[in-house]
Amino acid sequence: MFELREIGKCYHGKSSDCWALKGISFSLPSKGLVAIQGKSGSGKSTLLNILSTIESPTEGTVIFNGKELSKFTQREKEDYRNLWCSFVYQHFNLLEDQTSYENVALPLELRGEKEKEIHPKVVSLFAIHHISHLLHKKVRLLSGGEKQRIAILRALISGPKILFADEPTGALDRRNERLVMEELKEISKKILVVLVSHNERLVKEYADITLLLEEGRLIQAPPSSEFSGKIQKATERHCPFSWRSRFFCRNYKKNWLKNLLSIFSGTLGYLSLLIGLGFYAGSESTLEREKSHSLNYLQASLSKQVHYEIEGSPLSLVKSEKPTLEETDALLKDIPSIHQEEDYSYFFPSYHSFSLNGFPYEAMNFVPLWDISLNDRSHSFLVEGDVPKGNSLDYCLVNQEFADKIEENPIGRKIVLRNDVSVQEGDKIDHLSFSFSFLILGIVKEFSFLNSPKIFYSYPALKGLIEREELPNIGGNLESFLKRQTNDSPYHSYASLLYGDERSMEALNDLANALEKDSSDFVISSSAFTISSSFRNLYQAFAGSLAPFLLIEMIGVAFILGSLSYSTFLERRKQTAILMALGARKNDLEFIYESEPFLTSGLSAILALALSYPSSLLASLYLEKEVGIAHLITIPYWRYFGIPFFPIFALLLFAALIAVFSGVLPLHVARRRNVVEELRDE
Ligand code: ADP
Ligand code: MG
Repeated sequence: MFELREIGKCYHGKSSDCWALKGISFSLPSKGLVAIQGKSGSGKSTLLNILSTIESPTEGTVIFNGKELSKFTQREKEDYRNLWCSFVYQHFNLLEDQTSYENVALPLELRGEKEKEIHPKVVSLFAIHHISHLLHKKVRLLSGGEKQRIAILRALISGPKILFADEPTGALDRRNERLVMEELKEISKKILVVLVSHNERLVKEYADITLLLEEGRLIQAPPSSEFSGKIQKATERHCPFSWRSRFFCRNYKKNWLKNLLSIFSGTLGYLSLLIGLGFYAGSESTLEREKSHSLNYLQASLSKQVHYEIEGSPLSLVKSEKPTLEETDALLKDIPSIHQEEDYSYFFPSYHSFSLNGFPYEAMNFVPLWDISLNDRSHSFLVEGDVPKGNSLDYCLVNQEFADKIEENPIGRKIVLRNDVSVQEGDKIDHLSFSFSFLILGIVKEFSFLNSPKIFYSYPALKGLIEREELPNIGGNLESFLKRQTNDSPYHSYASLLYGDERSMEALNDLANALEKDSSDFVISSSAFTISSSFRNLYQAFAGSLAPFLLIEMIGVAFILGSLSYSTFLERRKQTAILMALGARKNDLEFIYESEPFLTSGLSAILALALSYPSSLLASLYLEKEVGIAHLITIPYWRYFGIPFFPIFALLLFAALIAVFSGVLPLHVARRRNVVEELRDE
């Protein structure tokens, strides 16, 4: 049945190579009890492993029924181990936490037989060997002798042609030794039994043929024997999915605590990823929402930078000037609903001190609005109070920051502002003394938290006042005086004021950016743009710096899941080795072990998805309380980047990748490395 030609096996050690077998040639018949005898370390187990394809020889060929074992494909080797051979080991190599029945049924299950075919076979085999009482006992509760007899039944159940027994009686007492040897002898009447033993007494008593090994060399060879027959074509066998999943679930349950920990850390990792995405998406939509919910006035200034050459110097002087009407018309022709004004706002200088109920306050920003009544706009920006009905300098609005600053309810209070101006033309001077008294009507919720305290007043009312103000010495009114001023005059305004609404906001912002990019002489500036762009920058910086943190965390999660699943696998090396020796298909083994990281990662992802909604809600509420912005963390479950269900798909895909990198890859590497050692009895 077997013919070995010049077999050698070398183990590559760190310091030196070790030849466990060298120059082994012999042939074996297809029946009888062949004993391989030799001292410990003489290479007996190695020879057995080579015959059973668990190990490959370094040199030489083994011919089995006319075909070279080394030319077998992976599948053929698996079939060979499942259909042709069986094993009995010194230390049994049974699945200790399963019952005798389950252990014995294993080779048939790996062959894909149905439970209803397997059951009668197993039960009758137990009955024939008079051990039916062990049928449903867990193997770990059995005695050594009982275990070995279960191992023999597992070897016999599949009707093998060869039985390999590596020191089968090594761990047994005399009585059990005899029982097992009798059993093997009986079996060898029908098939080939290859027995490895260092026990001369037993070999002498039972063996038909004896081979003697000494330090890897054959001292006593068997007589050459005939071998016949062709290797049977392996039947197509499929391990049923239900068996694989049962096996996998049993493993998974057995390690429940470790798996629970893995799921827990995976869930935390994925959760923070989702919340990170929620923060990114939430702050973007917050920006948009804040922009449209806030007072959302547009007030900008348009100025012109004029360069004056300085005589005899390479330097030039840059001055801001008011652009001409033709220039502004040309610039603003595409901006919808924009309104242009002469700038007289310096009559209410920014950061001018004022008094409120007799107390002086400083550093408040006076902001002119074109339409303080904000007719057609919603009042949703109003936090408290009312808006003035028409344009008048008797009333003003303040923002929330103003209210916060003065630390008392400002509604109904009066702001008194004094401004003394002297104007001069030629040798004529007029002294003007203004005293403005505004009643605060309402507090507005302005574009978010980057604001300074502000007081909004009506620009048309200011303009009306300037038009009405007579200059007794110079003559005419203040407006005509200011209009007459040249670029050099201190009364000259350095910019035009632009007023608009939401419609003009975006277009004007684009224009401002374009002008800046082209280093144009014209400059448009607005605090609305500054605030909006600094908010955008702020959240982009936040989100950007979040990314490396999340990345590091994900690597951490991958490592935790990876090391947990790797350590689980190491605990299961024995199980893998046993299944492999029983001829389990490579992909069945892969399914059993690689499903674990997928299940762990998948469950973590699903849990994280389930928890993400309540936790993002809580985090959002907390932020709303602390920062004052609502819905800052909003996970866009339904659509993001224009992709439906993006976060869900992305997370599941990511979880699968983590499973591959943390679980599947290490297992692949680990399985290649010496599970064989697990089968050895030393
Ligand atoms: P036996 O079964 O006769 O006791 P083995 O076949 O197990 O002997 O081992 C033969 C020799 O090969 C021994 O010297 C052993 O140390 C060596 N050996 C066995 N397996 C390995 C291995 N995986 N790596 C290195 N050396 C090994
Ligand atoms: Mg051995």
